Amino acid sequence: MKAQLVQDHSHGRKILSEIVPLPAPLSLTVLASSLCNLKCTYCVHGLGAPWLETVQRNGHFFKLETAKELVDGLKAFCGKGVPPLCRITYAGYGEPLLNPEIADIIAYTKKGRVCKETVIVTNAVALTSELSDKLIDAGLDLMRISIQGITSKEYLEQSGRQVNIEKLVQSIQYYYSHKKAGQRVYIKIMNEQLKSDEERAAFLKMFEDCCDEIAFESLVPVLANASEEDIDQFQKGINTGSVAQMRICPLPFYSLHVMTDGSITTCCYYDHAAVLGNVCQMSIQEVWEGEQYHGFLKKMLADAKCGIPVCEGCKAYAYTMRNEDSVDAAQDRLCKELGV
Ligand code: SF4
Repeated sequence: MKAQLVQDHSHGRKILSEIVPLPAPLSLTVLASSLCNLKCTYCVHGLGAPWLETVQRNGHFFKLETAKELVDGLKAFCGKGVPPLCRITYAGYGEPLLNPEIADIIAYTKKGRVCKETVIVTNAVALTSELSDKLIDAGLDLMRISIQGITSKEYLEQSGRQVNIEKLVQSIQYYYSHKKAGQRVYIKIMNEQLKSDEERAAFLKMFEDCCDEIAFESLVPVLANASEEDIDQFQKGINTGSVAQMRICPLPFYSLHVMTDGSITTCCYYDHAAVLGNVCQMSIQEVWEGEQYHGFLKKMLADAKCGIPVCEGCKAYAYTMRNEDSVDAAQDRLCKELGV
């Protein structure tokens, strides 16, 4: 069966300004690994120090015991009648499949029934048939695969590593053909990694039989210290034709991020805007309802950049989100409700 080419990612999206403040986050992103087996030229792993040291300061792998604290803590929401989170995504600045406990972490997350969907974002280079079997048995809902080229030569040029492209396709095919009903595979490549329409066609031909959805995305600026000039070179969002128009960063209003050591932060920005706690000491509910988190939202609402240096230099959210995700229209109401 041929995969569906995804061109519109807005399907089923909620208008965020109509539903904030939320009783619980819609999604959590967990940094499962800060190590990677590729060194893509545009990523912290390709850029090297000092970016890499900053990303790896919280440790290399998110551990199963930390995942248990996270999931058990999330169950507190259920007692309050809050529906499960939309999703927990194991991703971040590293390759989740390098985490030796990743399948057990997914299994524990699924058994906890704290989210509707578990997601892994991966380059799939470490995907073996054995690991595929474990992830399928664990109940992984969605595997999002990032492809870095359509030949082994392109992988070497763009990711600095020898990757056997035929073996990579076979590994993905194995997962796709063995997965159970309801489990999905999404594959994407960056537009910037394809040089011509012929290469786009070759990418589709190579992968459309081993995924449910296939897409072209765009490179976006997420690193601090990029100059205005550098940032202005990017004219498109990650999967939209334009950059979203919004003053207030919406990310902390609907999601939280968890680092490898369990630290809870407002976003996955490599240099944390705010550390709100740690899942080993506090539940996500305690953070979500706590003064520190509300204080952060208030600062964000008061001047839209909250006087935090890392936020002031950040435009990442405008490139990764859509206009429907803006909370600007709710600013006055939120200010009243949160007492700004
Ligand atoms: S403005 Fe940037 S750094 Fe600040 S919370 Fe939003 S995404 Fe994170």
